[in-house]
Amino acid sequence: MRIVLINPPVRMEGEFKDWKGKLEIYQPLGLQYIAAVLKKAGHEAIILDAIIEDYKNTGDKWWGLRHTEIAKRVKEIKPDAIGIGGMATMEDSIIKTADEIKQVADIPIFVGGPYASIKYEDCKKNRSIDYIIVGEAENSIGKFVENFQKGVSIDRVIFSERTKNLNDLPFPDRQNIDKYFKAARIYRYARGRQKTSRTVSIISSRGCPFNCIFCAAKIAVGSIWRPRTVDNIISEMEECIESYNVTDFYFEDENMSLSKERMNNLMDVIISKRWKIRLHSNQGLRADTLDFDLLKKMKRAGYDDIAVAPETGSQKTMDKIIEKKLNLKNVEEVVANCKKIGLDVACFFVLGFPDETKEDIEETLAFMKKIRSMGAFHCTVRNAIPVPNTRLYNESKARGLLIKDGENLEKVMYITNKHMLNSPNWTPEEIECYVARAKKEDLGDIKLVRKKYFKNFIKGMVTSPRLTINAIYKKYRKSP
Ligand code: SF4
Repeated sequence: MRIVLINPPVRMEGEFKDWKGKLEIYQPLGLQYIAAVLKKAGHEAIILDAIIEDYKNTGDKWWGLRHTEIAKRVKEIKPDAIGIGGMATMEDSIIKTADEIKQVADIPIFVGGPYASIKYEDCKKNRSIDYIIVGEAENSIGKFVENFQKGVSIDRVIFSERTKNLNDLPFPDRQNIDKYFKAARIYRYARGRQKTSRTVSIISSRGCPFNCIFCAAKIAVGSIWRPRTVDNIISEMEECIESYNVTDFYFEDENMSLSKERMNNLMDVIISKRWKIRLHSNQGLRADTLDFDLLKKMKRAGYDDIAVAPETGSQKTMDKIIEKKLNLKNVEEVVANCKKIGLDVACFFVLGFPDETKEDIEETLAFMKKIRSMGAFHCTVRNAIPVPNTRLYNESKARGLLIKDGENLEKVMYITNKHMLNSPNWTPEEIECYVARAKKEDLGDIKLVRKKYFKNFIKGMVTSPRLTINAIYKKYRKSP
């Protein structure tokens, strides 16, 4: 069978509108895995990534190939089935893609990925979507296509089991890789600071055993941590380097360093390979898994920067509300160690949980300031979003604290930026003010650091220009 897998265009309204010069490219790793599984089973799998097909098209409401154009392409390709993937925030675009295709061709459409897993009840309401695959579709896609070919009746919602051993999966099918490299010359890749455009996304594990109140990631990937072996990861990296001359790897795991032993082994092997590559973990690592020696190894292996996600600067909020099971002392240690080693570290925070008090929030803002003064590169902050089916959503709904149920997530997160929760401790408007204040303070501190760097640079150029230029060259040199 011929199957087209679509990554729909993304919205260019609201907050995104100001991002035109800062848009980021991602490779749809989920679709690349599905394509690899389908090809292994003897099918033809074509990935149609709207962004990459028309990445210069940032006009009006959408970025990438428009939905009507996608439908036209589908008509030309004449597939037997269509798969659409996307994040929970891409609801409108996924539905619009399905609607446009149904208008020009009567082809069965299935939807998978985080949107289908997190919001499958909403997904069911759209009649252009014929099937919904909840969970990791690699396990059910083969059977689904086989049943479809045989004309066997298929349930509209398919609950797919998780892949127990990730080593059993074929490596992602990176069929459009040159197009991504080309686009990454213009756009940053995945919030990162890659040295060249030859960049790929990769996962070394799936799942997370923790139970943070707001987390939607684990709905899609589950609570059992499933690591790939070091050998298996290294083989994929080798393939990327040898076949595509890749220089930058973005690890997209929920919890890459959960096993210190595996992380240490992985870094050891990468160092021994003497590859000229850069590594990135922009999704955030757990601070309590990163000791001084491991961070040093990570730097040697190719990390220039890391991100950790404490989420709060109040130990009370951490233990009693978020339940991340993390000691803030570990975050401070990581920031201090990164400074010694020469790794930039960014930290993620979330404000506005219903049981948080204003004092707790002030504590978080003070903590952010403290770690910036200790050397954290910057702190990203946003308000807590009650994503459907998370603990935050379920508990807030039960307590009558949701301002509006069923709100479009993309609109809330990127367009209106409105806080969607109520609390006896604060008003939603107050949380929006706290977030704005935290962002402003972060920017102010970044400017101070830049000023300090600039002063040091001028001083260095006056006193020892050769050493200064060498130091800058070493920091910013591009990998070959
Ligand atoms: S540690 Fe990260 S991935 Fe795990 S539940 Fe918490 S936020 Fe989600």
